[in-house]
Amino acid sequence: MKNLILEMEEYAKEKNVPIMEKDGIAFLMKFIKANNIKNVLEIGSAIGYSAILMASSNPDVKVTTIEKDEVNYLECLKNVKKCGFEQKVNVVFQDALELNLAEGTQFDLIFIDAAKGQYIKFFEKYKYFLAPHGTIITDNIHFHGYVGKKETIESKNLKQLVTKIENYIEFLKTNEEFDTRFYDVGDGLSVSVRKNEK
Ligand code: SAH
Ligand code: MG
Repeated sequence: MKNLILEMEEYAKEKNVPIMEKDGIAFLMKFIKANNIKNVLEIGSAIGYSAILMASSNPDVKVTTIEKDEVNYLECLKNVKKCGFEQKVNVVFQDALELNLAEGTQFDLIFIDAAKGQYIKFFEKYKYFLAPHGTIITDNIHFHGYVGKKETIESKNLKQLVTKIENYIEFLKTNEEFDTRFYDVGDGLSVSVRKNEK
C-alpha cells in the first residue's frame, strides 16, 4: 500500500497529474475518521490517489469516484485493483455533469476536485445527494496560489479560471443553504455544511 502511494505520487509528478497536496489529503483523511464517514462521493478521480487514501482512512468507508478522462480512469482502476480495494472504491467512467445517480443515493461526504470552471455546477447538481448531516469539501480554492493575484496573470484562459474560482468562493460565502469555512491547507479547501443541520 505504502509503495503504491509512492508510485502514484511519482507517476503524478512525471505526467503532471494534479493530485492533492499532502497536507490536503491528510486533512480529508482526518475529517473522515473524526466524523465517522461511511460513504464518500468524489468528483474527479484522476489516478485514484485521493480516492484510495480516503478509502483507507476508515475500515468501513466506501468511495464512489467519477472520472471522465479514459487514460486517468484506466490508471485509477489499475491502482484500485493493485491495493485490493475493488469493494471499497467504485470508479465510474463518465462526465460528472452527465451522470444520473439513482434517486435516493446519499453520501456523508462529497469531495469536489474536477474541472475548476464547473465548481458551481457540480455543487448544485450533487447537493441533492448529500445526507442531511453531510459535508461538501472542495479542493483548489487557492488555485495554485493564483486566487487573489489575478493582476499578475498573463494568460487569458488562466485568468478566466481564476475568476471562476473567485465566483465559486463568492457563491459559497453568500449561499443561503450552506455555511462554509475556508482552510489554508494544501491548495486551499472549503468545507460546507447545511445551515439547518448544525
Ligand atoms: N482527486 C484527484 C485529483 C483529480 S484531478 C486526487 O487528488 O488524487 C481532476 C480530475 O477531474 C482529472 O482527472 C479530470 O479528468 C477530471 N474531471 C474534470 N472534469 C470532470 C467531469 N466533468 N467529470 C468527471 N471528471 C472530470
Ligand atoms: Mg485538486
